Amino acid sequence: MKKLLVAGNWKMNGDSTSVTSLLNSLTGEFDKALDKARFKHCEVLIFPPYVYLAQVADSLRDTQLKLGAQDVDSRDTGAVTGGVAAAMLRDVGCQFVILGHSERRRLFHEDNETITRKFEQCIAHDLCPILCVGESLEQRRTGVTLEVVREQLEFVCDRVGATYMGKAMVAYEPVWAIGTGESAKPEEVEEVHAGIRAYLAGIDAELGASTRLLYGGSVTPENASALLANEDVDGVLAGGASLSGEKFLQVCQAAEMAVLK
Ligand code: PEP
Repeated sequence: MKKLLVAGNWKMNGDSTSVTSLLNSLTGEFDKALDKARFKHCEVLIFPPYVYLAQVADSLRDTQLKLGAQDVDSRDTGAVTGGVAAAMLRDVGCQFVILGHSERRRLFHEDNETITRKFEQCIAHDLCPILCVGESLEQRRTGVTLEVVREQLEFVCDRVGATYMGKAMVAYEPVWAIGTGESAKPEEVEEVHAGIRAYLAGIDAELGASTRLLYGGSVTPENASALLANEDVDGVLAGGASLSGEKFLQVCQAAEMAVLK
């Protein structure tokens, strides 16, 4: 039976008090023997801000929850003031890194070249990249969604090749749906995920079949079931909903139910 993935991107939120309380609500639930059974069919990842990674890694030890980082530097090591290297993330217990998030593309002017270098760093240090792609509202309105998503994917795929791409996941995150409370409709997600799968299958049939495709953009406990009902949706990436232990657990519950249906 397949496992659905639920990822929580905390972004630049929290302080040591709120991080401790969020962790208590999550690990408390995931620790109980009953809850291990309750969340048997979903894989749950959390992405705290850098400064809390070590604290979170400590709390997640011996739980089912896995740790990831929201970013990584595109360089290996050395004179990069403020940089955080892939090896460091691995060292503190991360297994995943979010790359190409629209906030990083917009606020930090990250282009496909930088994102690809970060992707290569992740692969070199045994971290699974979660490559975010997605169109703006303007691009959706002008009907170029599939081209935009394909272009973002193609740049990385052409450079890293099918073998390395096979070590990553792709998250479809329409820019207009992030943090707006307006999720994409299940049929819109279905169309784009089918397009991504077809593109990957064109490179390599196995890559198309096995790459895990996540959806992100205003995922809530209320819409998670409908989004996860699609065969081509292998999980969700939640921002706002991951900041509440209760809501995040409800999204995990929706994932669990979606597998069992
Ligand atoms: C995100 O940060 O990737 C995201 C999807 O945020 P939100 O769920 O708040 O829209």
